[in-house]
Amino acid sequence: MNFELSPELSALRQQVRDLIDERIIPVEERVLAEYAAGEYATLHALQATAQSAGLWTPHLPEAFGGRGLGLMGMCTLFREMGRSTVGARVFNCDAPDQGNMDLLLSSASEAINARYLAPLCAGHITSAFCMTEPAPGAGSDPSNLRTTARLEGGEWVIDGHKWYSTGGGAAAFFIVMARTSEDPRTGATMFVVDRDAPGVEHVRDVSVMATDVLQHMEGEFRFHGVRVPDDAVVGGVGEGFLLAQKRLVPARLTHCMRWLGLAERTLDMCRDYITQRKSFGRRLSEHQQIQVMIAENAAAIHAGNLMTFHCAWLMEREGGKTARGYSSMAKNQVARLLCKVLDDAIQMHGALGYSDDRPFARWYRSARAARIADGPDEVHTMVVARDYLRGRLDLLV
Ligand SMILES: Cc1cc2nc3c(=O)[nH]c(=O)nc-3n(C[C@H](O)[C@H](O)[C@H](O)COP(=O)(O)OP(=O)(O)OC[C@H]3O[C@@H](n4cnc5c(N)ncnc54)[C@H](O)[C@@H]3O)c2cc1C
Repeated sequence: MNFELSPELSALRQQVRDLIDERIIPVEERVLAEYAAGEYATLHALQATAQSAGLWTPHLPEAFGGRGLGLMGMCTLFREMGRSTVGARVFNCDAPDQGNMDLLLSSASEAINARYLAPLCAGHITSAFCMTEPAPGAGSDPSNLRTTARLEGGEWVIDGHKWYSTGGGAAAFFIVMARTSEDPRTGATMFVVDRDAPGVEHVRDVSVMATDVLQHMEGEFRFHGVRVPDDAVVGGVGEGFLLAQKRLVPARLTHCMRWLGLAERTLDMCRDYITQRKSFGRRLSEHQQIQVMIAENAAAIHAGNLMTFHCAWLMEREGGKTARGYSSMAKNQVARLLCKVLDDAIQMHGALGYSDDRPFARWYRSARAARIADGPDEVHTMVVARDYLRGRLDLLV
C-alpha cells in the first residue's frame, strides 16, 4: 500500500480539517441545541459554506455534484468530518443517507431516483433504512425477516413491523427490506416507500441510551398494506440480501472512518488536559499509568485506521465479497476502540470527565451503539473466524 495522498486529496483533507476545527467545532453545541428546538439556521449556514467550498457530498460522482472520490478518498475526508459529531451532516455524508445515496445510485429505477435521489443529494430531504424488526423478526440474522411484500394488481403490498430505523421520524422516504419468497438466498427484496404513503404508521421514536444527535432518532414503524409501484423495487425482485451486503459492507466502513475521527479528537483532548492538570507534584501526563492509557489508545486508533484503509483499498480493487471479512475485523476494532478511548477519557479527566462540562459521557452513550448497530461484535467475530478458518483472510498483507 502507498500511504501517500495525492496533492489534490491532501489539499481537500486540509480544507475539511480547517472547516471542522475553525468553523464547525466551535458551534457544534449550538447546532444541536437549535436542531432540538426545530431550528436549523447554524446548520444551514455551515452547509452553505461546505457547498461553496466544493465539499458537499464529495463521495458522489461529479454528475451528482460530488467529486467521485472512491472509498480511499472517502476514508481520508470522512475521518476529518467525524471529528465533529455534526460534521458528516454538514457535508451531507451522514448515515444512513450516504449509504442510501450509493444504493439508489447503483440500483434504483430512474423514476425513483428523479423523485428521491436528487433531493437527497441536494440535502433537501433525509432518508431511513428499514431492515431490523423487533423479535422474533430480523436482527443479527436477516433470515428471520417477517415483513412481507406481495404483488397485487400490478402493485406491491407491504405489511410489517420495523424498528431502529435511524432518522425514520424525519425521513421523506425509507428503503424497506421485505420477504417476497421463502427462498433462503433470494427471498428478500428492497422497496422505496414514501413516508406519506397510506398505511405507514410512525409508532414512536424509541427512547435510547444516547441523546439525539440531529435526526438520529430510532424510529419504530408499522406498514399496514402499504402499496408501492413496481418501479419502487431497488435492484431486482429477490436481490434484497445481496443488496444488503452491497450496502452494508461499505456503510460499515464509512462508520469506521467517522468513528476514527471522533476517537482521535477525544485523545487529543486528553493530551491537552493531562499535560496541564497536576497531581502528586507532577503533570498527569508524567504518571506511567496515564501514559499506558495514552499509548494503548494511540496504538488502537492507528491499528483501526490501518484496517479501515486496507479494507477500503481492497474494496476498490476487488469489491465487497473479498473485503467482507476485513470489514468485519475493522468494524469490531474501531467500534471497540471508540468505546475504550471515551471510557479512558472519562477516567483521565476524573470528575470533570464524568460531568456534562465535557462531552465524553454524551459521546460514550452514542458510541456504545457502535458495538451493536450494523451487526453486533459477536456476528462480526463469527464472520472473521469463518473466513479465517476457510483460508480466506490473508493476515500479513
Ligand atoms: C443506534 C442504532 C442504530 C441502528 N440503526 C439501524 C437502521 O438504521 N436500520 C436498521 O435496519 N437497523 C438499525 N439498527 C439495528 C441493528 O442493525 C441491529 O440492532 C443489529 O443488527 C442486531 O440485531 P438485534 O438488535 O435484533 O440483536 P439480536 O439479533 O437479537 O442479537 C442480540 C445479541 O445476541 C448476540 N448474538 C446475536 N447473534 C449471535 C451469534 N451468531 N453469536 C453470538 N452472539 C450472537 C449479540 O450479543 C447480540 O447483541 C440500529 C441499531 C442501533 C443500536
